Amino acid sequence: MIYDHLLVRYGELTLKGANRKTFVSQLRSNVKRALMPLKGYEVKANRDRMYIELDEQADIDEMISRISKVYGVHSISPVLKIEKTMDAMYEHARIFANEYQPGESFKIEVKRSDKQFEYETFAIQRMVGGAILKHNDAIHVNVRQPDHEIKIEVRLDAVYMYDKVIPAIGGLPVGTGGKTLLMLSGGIDSPVAGMEVMSRGVTIEAIHFHSPPFTSEKAKEKVIELTRIMAERVGTIKLHIVPFTEVQKQVHKVVHERYTMTSTRRMMMRIADKVVHQIGADAIVNGENLGQVASQTLKSMYAINAVTSTPVLRPLLSLDKEEIINKAKALGTFETSIQPFEDCCTIFTPKNPVTEPQFDKVIKYESGFDFEPLIDEAVKNIETLIIDKNYRLHDDKQNEWDDDLF
Ligand code: ATP
Ligand code: MG
Repeated sequence: MIYDHLLVRYGELTLKGANRKTFVSQLRSNVKRALMPLKGYEVKANRDRMYIELDEQADIDEMISRISKVYGVHSISPVLKIEKTMDAMYEHARIFANEYQPGESFKIEVKRSDKQFEYETFAIQRMVGGAILKHNDAIHVNVRQPDHEIKIEVRLDAVYMYDKVIPAIGGLPVGTGGKTLLMLSGGIDSPVAGMEVMSRGVTIEAIHFHSPPFTSEKAKEKVIELTRIMAERVGTIKLHIVPFTEVQKQVHKVVHERYTMTSTRRMMMRIADKVVHQIGADAIVNGENLGQVASQTLKSMYAINAVTSTPVLRPLLSLDKEEIINKAKALGTFETSIQPFEDCCTIFTPKNPVTEPQFDKVIKYESGFDFEPLIDEAVKNIETLIIDKNYRLHDDKQNEWDDDLF
């Protein structure tokens, strides 16, 4: 391995002052969490960038793959940290150039933030380029379209040399933007909706409505796996599984068949609203999309939304299915989402659900029964799992983030 550090660049550089401090310290702990339990590194972050010092135990490819999924990381470069002398630059630039094939071209690009350094940018470029050519005359310089580019940063503390910039996911570090509750079904949309809000720095906990025996253990496992994939970006996510069978059965007893879908969704929302307050979150997130399926109309959203004054975020509202699928593929949830396990709603879906529910009818049907005790019972019996990226399930007692590890 020729590299001895990973250079991690932050996105959204406009953040200033105290915000920036919070941003950096959250990002540092998210990166550390993403790297656990790998060995062979030490993370050091300052206000501009993060350096991860590597030793011989470090699995650099695995580290890059994990860090590139952490929101708030803009790009990563494996770098060599070297002494601030021209000789050290010559020596190490040659190590890079040794890998090039005869006939290939290269370019040296220098950034000199230490203005006291004895040589200027262009001089350094020329001198290092010359040193390489002296050693290897089968390659040549091409500044317009080089096959390889060696970047040299002359900074106050040292010189950093690298040849790759690997793009990462960007966004803001999760944990800097408050907390939401994601309504997570086993479908394609809701995990993507969750990641959209996570990418803006928001922490999520997930809630899933499960109706055994109408929905199987496999359907629950699928949701656990989707949560695990999302946790790759943050380390750990809490998943609240709501026993929903009794509520759903009761809806089907008292509500007109064509309105059962609307009322079922309203009951989900009532339960989610209670959980939002229990966990100290400030919004609910779902995967609804305008017009994607017949039930996702404005009238339907109005009826469902009317049970709560908590903001309901719908990050996928206006996206095409195609775009959502592409995002699901990029995030790694698509293959799991398309596994054919029944959802609690598909089982009970009426043949001909109303697409434009009339609000007064919804209220009339539901008034035939007091759902509140059933809802409270469901909330009381929620099973909460803490799922980490390695699929370890923790019980709720050891629930808080292991921040003292860092
Ligand atoms: P998804 O692909 O996320 O299931 P969808 O297009 O199938 O979305 P619906 O089934 O109409 O849409 O559900 C709309 C939203 O309601 C979902 O995106 C999800 O946020 C929420 N939802 C539906 N079923 C459940 C469930 N069993 N548990 C938790 N949330 C659910
Ligand atoms: Mg669905």
